[in-house]
Parts: sequence; structure tokens; C-alpha cells
Amino acid sequence: MLNIILMGPPGAGKGTQATRLVDSFHLPHISTGDMFRENIKNGTPLGLQAKAIIEAGGLVPDEVTCAMVKDRLSREDCANGFLLDGFPRTIPQAEELEKIGEELGRKVNLVIDITVPEEELIRRISGRRVCPKCGASYHIDTMKPQKEGICDRCGSEIVQRKDDNAESFRVRLENYYESTQPIADFYKEKGNYRLFDGTIGADNLFREIAKLLEEHK
Ligand code: ADP
Ligand code: ZN
Repeated sequence: MLNIILMGPPGAGKGTQATRLVDSFHLPHISTGDMFRENIKNGTPLGLQAKAIIEAGGLVPDEVTCAMVKDRLSREDCANGFLLDGFPRTIPQAEELEKIGEELGRKVNLVIDITVPEEELIRRISGRRVCPKCGASYHIDTMKPQKEGICDRCGSEIVQRKDDNAESFRVRLENYYESTQPIADFYKEKGNYRLFDGTIGADNLFREIAKLLEEHK
């Protein structure tokens, strides 16, 4: 069973790997960032609550985030595995996830962490552009779309995420080092943690992670 957490700092390439992994291993992709953005786009009460926090680079309160994840993990499509992306992001979230997993009989059994040096994260995020329609990711210097400003996959106009500005990114990075990185130790102790180098190229990284998943299927 593949009940997976994918973790790493903003800009580590989680989104790219997550998309490929869920396609190859037929797992539901549970990205809390995507779920929040969807709620913001649709103007739901949850979206209204989260919008300002997210745009400033902050963390949505644990209770709100955990309730959203519990609801999602309870759904039938998670019975045969899942890939959590962007959750847990704090120790209390990790502890709550243990309880949720216990309750639902869907405990996490593999934690994949992607590491990338800070200078590289800054470079990636400052030049990142995303497609609001299909979620594809680009970079203004190193991953340009074929036609400037237009998504290769779906033809929509690509944009800079509101929280990819310098100030919000600084806050996200600080939160990551302070609140999220300590989670690695939490899982190392449980013995189901693996660290990957996020600078070896998206294809190589995918191959390495896929190899590990094959062993755990
Ligand atoms: P990143 O590219 O920084 O990994 P995500 O797309 O995963 O960003 O998330 C975007 C934003 O959504 C975060 O900066 C945060 O404000 C909010 N968010 C996502 N997941 C969580 C979480 N587990 N706990 C609290 N806030 C979250
Ligand atoms: Zn697109």
C-alpha cells in the first residue's frame, strides 16, 4: 500500500513530481495548496478565510487544514493509497495525521523529502510562472513555454502566483525551516523516511522516487 507524504521546501519541485507519481501509480493527489487555491477561486467560506493568509505566505491554522485533509482522506478513492503534497506542514499537523490515519485505517507508510539549497529555491520561485487552468509550471529563463506567456498544455495565459513575490516567499521559506523541516525528524524516528536530492533534474528525480515506490507497492 502506498500511503505517501511528499515534503520539501517551496520550489523543491513537489508539484512536478506529484503529478508524475500519481499518474504512474494511480494515486489520488491531495495537495492542500491546490485545495486552498480552488476554494479561493470559488469564493467558498474556507477560501475567504485562507486568501489573505496564503497571499502573505503564512500558514492556514492547523485546525482548518486538518479538518480539510481528514474530510478528503475519508473519501473512498483513498482506500487504496494516496499522495499527500504540502501536508503535514507543522508538528501538530503531523500528530493529528497520525490520529486520522489510525481512525480511518489509512496510516502513512512512506515519507519522501526533497532537498534543494536555498539559493536555488530563490532562483526557481522568483522566475516561476504557473497556468491557473491546468496547473503546469514554467520558469522565465529555464523552462519557457513555446509561446511567451501561454501555457503549452492548454493555451491559457500563464501568471505569477500571488505568493511567489519576494516578501511572501521569504515568509514561506522561514515557515518551512522553522515549522516544517522538524517534521523530518518526527518521521525519521518512525523509520519510513527517505531524503532525495532535488537538484538532479526532474526526470532523474522521478526515476529515483519511482524506484522506491515500486519496492513499497
Ligand atoms: P508551496 O509551493 O509553497 O509548496 P503550496 O501550493 O503547497 O505551496 O501551498 C500554498 C500555501 O497554502 C502555503 O504557503 C500556505 O499558506 C497554504 N497551505 C498549504 N498547505 C498548508 C498546510 N498544510 N498548513 C497550512 N497552510 C498550508
Ligand atoms: Zn495550462
